[in-house]
Amino acid sequence: MKFNKTLEDIKTYEAGKPIELVVREFGIDPKNIIKLASNENPYGCSMKVQNAVSAIVSKMALYPDDSMTKLKNALAARFNLGVANLIIGSGSDQVIEFLIHAKAHAGTKILMNSITFAMYEIYAKHVGAEVLRTASREHDLDEFYAIYQEQKPEIIFICTPNNPTGDAIDTEKLNAFLSKIDKDTLVVVDCAYMEYAAFKDANKKVDAKELTQRFENVIYLGTFSKAYGLGGMRVGFGLANPKIIEELYKLRPPFNITTLSLEAASVALSDEEFVNKCIAANFEEMKRYEEFAIAKKIDIIESFTNFVTLCLNETQNSTTLSNALLQKGMIVRNLSSYGLNAIRVTIGTPEQNTRFFELTSELL
Ligand SMILES: *Cc1c(COP(=O)(O)O)cnc(C)c1O
Repeated sequence: MKFNKTLEDIKTYEAGKPIELVVREFGIDPKNIIKLASNENPYGCSMKVQNAVSAIVSKMALYPDDSMTKLKNALAARFNLGVANLIIGSGSDQVIEFLIHAKAHAGTKILMNSITFAMYEIYAKHVGAEVLRTASREHDLDEFYAIYQEQKPEIIFICTPNNPTGDAIDTEKLNAFLSKIDKDTLVVVDCAYMEYAAFKDANKKVDAKELTQRFENVIYLGTFSKAYGLGGMRVGFGLANPKIIEELYKLRPPFNITTLSLEAASVALSDEEFVNKCIAANFEEMKRYEEFAIAKKIDIIESFTNFVTLCLNETQNSTTLSNALLQKGMIVRNLSSYGLNAIRVTIGTPEQNTRFFELTSELL
């Protein structure tokens, strides 16, 4: 059977290995498996969320409230914007998909960082768009601008903080860049880890209201999957000028967010205290990774997120190390497919991190 030609050079996205797979493949007791591969919140989600979701499980038979009024109002209040500035997706992944389908087609040029979130390219390839990349490992906005001027891409992806490297852009530099981009070019600013960056360094904080009111061609993406601890609920969002949002709505399937997910995300927003505690714990634990890296002579990229990227030296191999860790029940992300001899490790609970240091010390 023939399928679309655009699918021929797409590699299926390799999500962080689920715990169930390691149980099956290596026969390890699920209790002894630690997953530090997908940047989920190791402390889970707020008890308020768990209670609220438990209280409405009986509503599963009915379709969700497709107006999403409760969550929309909560998000609008949180970001001090209107509901017309907002679209909610099944993960911010789905908003990325809407964006590409709304603006790109065969041959459309889409510019992104050399190393960045893999889904941008996958969705770009769905429609046969052409992916352009910068050369540097970290976002270099001068390089972005040079390629922009030469190639005139129709979409630009900026990921700050960036996944999988953890670095973040200075807000001032970002704004200076955005003010040089013409209004017909869509710029996507993916802020999946912004809660962490804003906590660590005010100079890296991107404010969705300021951003979208100043730049009518820019969309801010956020997610409940990371700091809010709701990876399993699949809720993300885009904030932008209503003119962009209206177009994205044309692509949204009805009922794209489940009843339980809508409730979970709404309540998660009301418990900022829980999120802030988790973020503070994250940066406390990050110090241990930095010390570990120094002790082991491993290069660590300064991170503004809930993960660290450890760039191994010539005597070490990221594929060997991540496979050996996997056999011991420790799941981390090998970055060899990005052309890096590096692993990305989600910062876990203190106990999980201790286990990572023990196992890695043994294996190196
Ligand atoms: C995790 C992540 C997302 C999307 O997550 P969803 O679970 O789909 O909301 C988007 N961008 C980056 C950079 C991410 O790391």
